[in-house]
Amino acid sequence: MLNILKNHFGYEEFRPLQKEIIETILNKKDTLVLMPTGGGKSICYQIPALINEGIAIIVSPLISLMKDQVEALKANGIAAAALNSSNNESENAEVRRQAISGKLKLLYISPEKLLAEIEYLLSDIQISLFAIDEAHCISQWGHDFRPEYIQMGILHQKFPNIPIVALTATADKITRQDIINQLHLHHPQIFISSFDRPNLSLDVKRGYQQKEKHKTILDFIENHHNQCGIIYCMSRNKTESTAQMLEKNGIKCGVYHAGLTISERNKTQSDFINDKIQVVCATIAFGMGIDKSNVRWVIHYNLPKSIESFYQEIGRAGRDGSEADTLLFYSLADLILLTKFASESAQQSTNTEKLQRMQQYAEADICRRRILLSYFGETTETDCGNCDVCKNPPHRFDGTIIVQKALSGIARTNQQIGVRTLIDILRGSFNADLVDQGYDQLKTFGAGKDIPARDWQDYLLQMLQLGYFEIAYNEKNHLKITESGANILYGRNKAILVTIDRTEPIKKKRQSKKQVQEKELSLAIQNNENNDLFEALRGLRKNLADQEALPAYIVLTDKVLHLLSMSQPTTIEDFGNISGIGEYKKNKYGKDFVNLIKQYKK
Ligand code: ADP
Ligand code: ZN
Repeated sequence: MLNILKNHFGYEEFRPLQKEIIETILNKKDTLVLMPTGGGKSICYQIPALINEGIAIIVSPLISLMKDQVEALKANGIAAAALNSSNNESENAEVRRQAISGKLKLLYISPEKLLAEIEYLLSDIQISLFAIDEAHCISQWGHDFRPEYIQMGILHQKFPNIPIVALTATADKITRQDIINQLHLHHPQIFISSFDRPNLSLDVKRGYQQKEKHKTILDFIENHHNQCGIIYCMSRNKTESTAQMLEKNGIKCGVYHAGLTISERNKTQSDFINDKIQVVCATIAFGMGIDKSNVRWVIHYNLPKSIESFYQEIGRAGRDGSEADTLLFYSLADLILLTKFASESAQQSTNTEKLQRMQQYAEADICRRRILLSYFGETTETDCGNCDVCKNPPHRFDGTIIVQKALSGIARTNQQIGVRTLIDILRGSFNADLVDQGYDQLKTFGAGKDIPARDWQDYLLQMLQLGYFEIAYNEKNHLKITESGANILYGRNKAILVTIDRTEPIKKKRQSKKQVQEKELSLAIQNNENNDLFEALRGLRKNLADQEALPAYIVLTDKVLHLLSMSQPTTIEDFGNISGIGEYKKNKYGKDFVNLIKQYKK
């Protein structure tokens, strides 16, 4: 097992659970693997596929995912192919021929093709195992339900002696059980690896309006000079308008949502994978097929509808294990809209509950990673030190008067107003509607002028969280004072609020290009890394990738490039000792890279 890991994949040791999972599969037992994105699931079935006789069948929901996996395997000298509707007939015939002749070790296949081939191709070849990738797609409780997946329940009837391994990065307890039931797994061995992704930083911005979001996003991207990332938006329109805003500011970006044609979507995806654009503004439609290992950041323009979706989306950053940053904008308007969607959905109580857990995350004033991990059933003893709450613990103050002003605004309008009108009243803003209703005559009108509207947004979110008022979703989102709110309003209790701190930690202040470059340089020197050499290596990688029409990260990952520029190997043997370079890549690329490094050293 270790030899294969070293020879084919270039790694020295297994990650936690990989070895145990591989052994279980080799013992022909059914297996369920839950591991976060980037955790290293693929190797768990790829190594048994290489060890066992016959061919491993890998079911995967997306053509782009299959393509990426097959390319990565071939780049390591492993015989793999994919059978799906994107191939033409003669390509598929060729794949079939290879499979029957026993040349292939891994065959990736779409669920439709799998079902169609059960009596044909699958009956003619020796199968070593079935791997069901993205197995949560089989469950209606999951968030990526695919009806084609359900029929795979018959695999075990047709092939009772062939082990099935189901793999997923997201599955709560119900979904987990559902996968086992639907696939009819026999006493499966279940492996749940830690869901922690310590290399992802977590940050939440509360109550920001559009203008502030835009400024924050531009600053953020400037601080991530040359690093690519994804901005997730709730609506198609928002992806378009955000992309326009970025283009105006000279940032190369693409748009991805289900309203575009397939070829438009493919273009965005391939431009992103090939580093032709820095940013993709996308709806949740974008992602499952993204195996790009060097996504360095993810921004959520809007609140996601569940922690699973959120975790899977931020999980697309930092798959290579290097540092990556995530940022979530949380606003009352999103919350109201999502609550409406959830209450109108078929699984109303589940979806409302999931949204509430997401809300708790966004409003947390304890370590956010602990909340995420506990959602996935993990408890930790310590705070993470890599989230905004840990880095910048909240300060509290007596906010009774602020709360009383807001609540009295609600009371004096007979609880017939929503958030926007309340803020207008508090701020003393005249608008036609408000004057029509006579709200400008209220005693509270203008009572909160000293507090900017955006801060009112924030305080109102806090008050909602503290339970001082509720939103009547079935009554035009009007605000209703609760009993504990009344206790504050009439002076029976005090209200403690969290200070709003909008000053960014110094290192995040907007920096000039020059400052950013200097920072990168000093980091590189500190890491004993040479920037010129790194850029030269990157150039060579790009040339080699272009010659083979492959994405650059399939040739060598960013991490490998960094390791090369630090250790500067000058023999092919030393080149092969770099983590992530196996025998095949050593022989194929060693000479070119070693020559470049030698030249550089001269
Ligand atoms: P997943 O499918 O779980 O999202 P992958 O299988 O794509 O994750 O693995 C993520 C990255 O981790 C890949 O670049 C892979 O080569 C790398 N990786 C996997 N196993 C190991 C290991 N034992 N040592 C070092 N890197 C590994
Ligand atoms: Zn933390």
